[in-house]
Amino acid sequence: MGLIGSSAQIEASPVIPAALVKERPTRLFDTHGRTITDLRISITDRCNYKCIYCRTGTMGAQFPELSFAEYLRVAKIGASMGIAKIRLTGGEPLLRAGLVDFVRDLARIRNVDGNLLDIAITTNGHLLAELAQPLKDAGLRRVTVSMDAVDEEKFAAITRVPGSYPKVLAGVRAAKRAGLEPVKVNCVLLRGFNEDQIAPFARFAREEGVVVRFIEFMPLEEDRVWSPETVVRLPEVLAQVNQYQPVIEIERGVSETARRFVFDDGEGEIGIIASVSNAFCNHCSRIRLTSDGKLRTCLFSTREHDLLGRMRSGADDEELASYLASVVMTKEEGHRIGEPDFVPASRTMVHIGG
Ligand code: SAM
Repeated sequence: MGLIGSSAQIEASPVIPAALVKERPTRLFDTHGRTITDLRISITDRCNYKCIYCRTGTMGAQFPELSFAEYLRVAKIGASMGIAKIRLTGGEPLLRAGLVDFVRDLARIRNVDGNLLDIAITTNGHLLAELAQPLKDAGLRRVTVSMDAVDEEKFAAITRVPGSYPKVLAGVRAAKRAGLEPVKVNCVLLRGFNEDQIAPFARFAREEGVVVRFIEFMPLEEDRVWSPETVVRLPEVLAQVNQYQPVIEIERGVSETARRFVFDDGEGEIGIIASVSNAFCNHCSRIRLTSDGKLRTCLFSTREHDLLGRMRSGADDEELASYLASVVMTKEEGHRIGEPDFVPASRTMVHIGG
């Protein structure tokens, strides 16, 4: 079954010393001083694209899906402990039937501070043209669309789906029309592959009125082709953007992953997510739930925590909340990419939920 993380690689949760979590806390915090406010839920690891830097092209979904009621239960428990943002991802989340109703249910949840949740989706955009308005009406606030080229042929070559570019462009425009602003477009850059798209993406950001964010390629692909040389790093991206049109850096929120830049004439914004060269782990406020109900405290976790097992064996909400708090306590300090003792994650991106 190739190189991706199989369930055999998923270690059982460690036993958390009871002294660490005595009773159900009302906030999620870890042992490195970070408060967890963001929950990413992968609702499927199926995907209708086979992006060549992400998938082998031959392997399909690997893990089962929970019912929406189960994801909703986790979201409610998280919200009662300070989760303020939920991002739905996958695989491709728009493939999941019933998504709009699920978003509507999520949008009714108030967290421990009495606030409605900030609900976002990360999607490849292929089905977004039809779904943007219904999702907005259901309570979705924001959308991030993944695009790795603005050249139509290159786009189809990357996704391995003919005619994909016009579909995604229509999705981006529909999201803007629906008011899912600011629409963000994420582009993963790979050396020798799509770095020629940097300037065209800078133009795209200005012409389409979207925030384009360039992302450094991380070692999370099924083929395990990553090497430090494949990463197109922040200074190079910035140099190319500046050559097209100068940009000025602007302030970003403390847990924001992207460094933000506006063009010097005030029109358009780009971001650079330098996960490899300029890691932001010390501000990480995230925890992840995989489509099959495992908690992950980091994209690069080498072990997972079986929340679903506890849910299905009858744990009540209080027990699950205590368990969640204890798992968060084990959150890794950082991802260790590029360090000699780096160990690849136990699953790849598409099966974790990007
Ligand atoms: N299907 C949805 C999409 O395309 O946005 C959600 C899942 S996809 C795995 C989430 C994001 O992860 C995409 O933007 C994708 O480009 C990114 N991604 C996949 N593999 C990556 C890697 N090795 N390094 C950095 N980003 C990666």
